[in-house]
Amino acid sequence: MTLRARIVLTTVSLAGVGLAIAGVATYYFLGSFLTNRLDEQLEGASRPVAAALLTGVQHEQLETAQAEEPGHLPGGVYGALLDAKGRVVDDVSFNLGEQARARPRLPGDLPSVRGVSGAADPVTTDAVAGSTSFRLLALALGDGRTVVVAMPLRDVATTQRRLLLIEGAVTALVLLAIGVAAMWLTRLELRPLERMSETADAIADGDLSQRVVPDDKRTEVGRLGGALNRMLAQIEHAFEERMASEERLRRFVADASHELRTPVTSIRGFAELFRRGAADRPDDLANVMWRIEKEGARMGQLVDELLLLARLDQGLPLEQDPVDLREVVAAAVEAARATEPDRPLDLVAPAPVVVRGDDLRLRQVADNLIANARIHTPAATAVHVRVGAENGQAVLEVVDDGPGIAPAAAARIFERFYRVEQSRSRRVAGAGLGLAIVRSVVEAHGGTITHRAGEQRGSVFRVTLPRGEHDDDGKLTLA
Ligand code: ADP
Repeated sequence: MTLRARIVLTTVSLAGVGLAIAGVATYYFLGSFLTNRLDEQLEGASRPVAAALLTGVQHEQLETAQAEEPGHLPGGVYGALLDAKGRVVDDVSFNLGEQARARPRLPGDLPSVRGVSGAADPVTTDAVAGSTSFRLLALALGDGRTVVVAMPLRDVATTQRRLLLIEGAVTALVLLAIGVAAMWLTRLELRPLERMSETADAIADGDLSQRVVPDDKRTEVGRLGGALNRMLAQIEHAFEERMASEERLRRFVADASHELRTPVTSIRGFAELFRRGAADRPDDLANVMWRIEKEGARMGQLVDELLLLARLDQGLPLEQDPVDLREVVAAAVEAARATEPDRPLDLVAPAPVVVRGDDLRLRQVADNLIANARIHTPAATAVHVRVGAENGQAVLEVVDDGPGIAPAAAARIFERFYRVEQSRSRRVAGAGLGLAIVRSVVEAHGGTITHRAGEQRGSVFRVTLPRGEHDDDGKLTLA
């Protein structure tokens, strides 16, 4: 059953129960009120009736008198005189029209009596014939005889029946009106919910950009709408994130395969060369072997880099040892000087700067930055490396006076496999993973890496890392 049908049914049922209770109560209160009034009339009529029976007035006279003075005694009053044994000695009916034959059945045990001056409580009794009930009052005369006075309850019953009819008709009409109004109102009130379910259908069909209305804190439906919209925004966001990350992964895999294909193709080419006869020429053989080795090394490095990036992506925990950044960077500078002795390369690192982290990975950061400064600048270009502390942070800067990076390219240099176009043609071109690894390692250490153009030319790569310090008990803490 729909919510609307249930609301309408409940409203109509409740109203029906309420009206029925009110109707039943009115019915019984009216009945008892009319019976009380009849009892008063019965008491009022009892004396004239008793007097008439005792004085032996001719019935006809009495009846005629009644007919001539309507209102003196109400129509249908019945009186009877009973002897000590309870037998009817005489009776009289103030017959007005059709009530002529209606007589009450006298109960066997007439109610206890209070004598002439007092009347017993009236009781209800049936008619001898017909369905009319009577209210009956018994008066003891003191000499054993009893006078009985009765009045028909017919008018009371008629009035009650009429009330019942009116109540029934009014109840039906009111229920009908309430039903129609409830239907109209629920349709009006439930319309926002219907609209919401239409929107929800559209969303279920894949259109996550839809939003439900109303989104309004003042109403219950509006609050529901607000909650749904917030949930939708989160789902949409998560969905976009997932799509983006899937796209990144696809690109990463495609790029990685592409990068790996080049050395693999080269190795196969050299192997082929060897098979075709280079084996017989020692010089060629040495050359082929050297090239195969070089390509193998390039492939190995690429695989290592990919593995490291994958590990960092998985959030694998790094070492958390106290590391003196100055020492690590000094070693990297030494290594670079050994590789390229003619390169002007200076290091400014006045004091130890302790950070918490993985010294091998931090060394890789320094190596990559210094290697980039060497590889992507002409041989005579100066490279300056600085290590220090600033605002409670450890800072490493690798600055070169080379050609610099165009702003459009600079925005992408930290992306995986991104190389500035011209460097592809260079002999020394890497896979474009160097800076991506630097960023991943630095971020895994809770630090940041930025690139900016040098003051005149060249590039400035700046790494900041949270500084680890020894507190009083000698334990290392992160500043
Ligand atoms: P690669 O393996 O090519 O060095 P990186 O991720 O380390 O990849 O660097 C991405 C690109 O940024 C390089 O292709 C290079 O063109 C550019 N780049 C990096 N460092 C410098 C630098 N110091 N000067 C000029 N260009 C640089």
